[in-house]
Amino acid sequence: MTSLYQPMDAAVVPRFAGPASFMRLPVVASAAGLDIALVGIPWDGGTTNRPGARHGPREVRNQSSLMRRANHHTGVAPYDLIAVADVGDLEVQPIDLMAALRQIEAGIAAICAEGAVPLSVGGDHLTTLPVLRALSRARGEPLGLVQFDAHSDTNDRYFGDNPYTHGTPFRRAIEEGILDPKRMVQIGIRGSVYDPDEHGWAKAQGIRIVYIEECAARGPEAVMAEARAILGDRPAYVTFDIDSIDPSMAPGTGTPEIGGLTSREAQAMVRLLSGLNVVGADVVEVSPPFDLGGITALTGATILFELLCVMAEGIDQRRRGPPGV
Ligand code: MN
Ligand code: MN
Repeated sequence: MTSLYQPMDAAVVPRFAGPASFMRLPVVASAAGLDIALVGIPWDGGTTNRPGARHGPREVRNQSSLMRRANHHTGVAPYDLIAVADVGDLEVQPIDLMAALRQIEAGIAAICAEGAVPLSVGGDHLTTLPVLRALSRARGEPLGLVQFDAHSDTNDRYFGDNPYTHGTPFRRAIEEGILDPKRMVQIGIRGSVYDPDEHGWAKAQGIRIVYIEECAARGPEAVMAEARAILGDRPAYVTFDIDSIDPSMAPGTGTPEIGGLTSREAQAMVRLLSGLNVVGADVVEVSPPFDLGGITALTGATILFELLCVMAEGIDQRRRGPPGV
């Protein structure tokens, strides 16, 4: 099946021309009829240090014009398998944090109600919390999580008694019962911490934290084989914080930490998500004001394409049913 929704043909309209949309796909008014909805969440009100991720969706759209139709390594051609388009940005205002979280949740709930799976571009990492709220409610169960990140994002409070920042979303999600911590894997964690026991709470919940040192020692295949075993075949969300990648390759982000994944390792790891039941995914924390020559937005766009390929392949396989039936 070739979907109705195809990227603009680069042989007709060159890559640098035309309006910028995710993967040069059509921009549509609703997710009805789509398998996957590419959506921007231009909001960085949860940022604790360097801001700018609100500009992420627009620049990732721009750089995604460099993506072609098919994955050279896996052979997946997503637009031949599923219906995917750009549904634009969620309606979200920049001033009132609690109102913004409600707006994001409502926007994702609408995408779910139309039967599509959200693949979003943030925005800071707090945007993932309302996305998880909507998805978990739509599916009626807590989700598993694969998180690529330099940071665990399971801190409790900031600046006094503030529970909602981009350093706290996964603690809140566990407390709210929308993530199952025993089906959570955090990959690439590193950097100086506020306290030697900073990740004690996360580990006590059962989260599997794969620090960057272990990642480097074991390699992508072993790490992702373990992640797939932990997640199993139940619904899983994938969140990709661009700061998981080394700042020499992805400098445009709010909280850079040296010694990170290479972009090639990150691509390999995302491809090795294949086989999981991915019910939603995102790329977050691309901050164009801190970027250099668009390299971080390009990296974000490429990871977005890799996620799209893995999700398209999974949807297509589930639609066909188990082999031999
Ligand atoms: Mn994060
Ligand atoms: Mn991070």
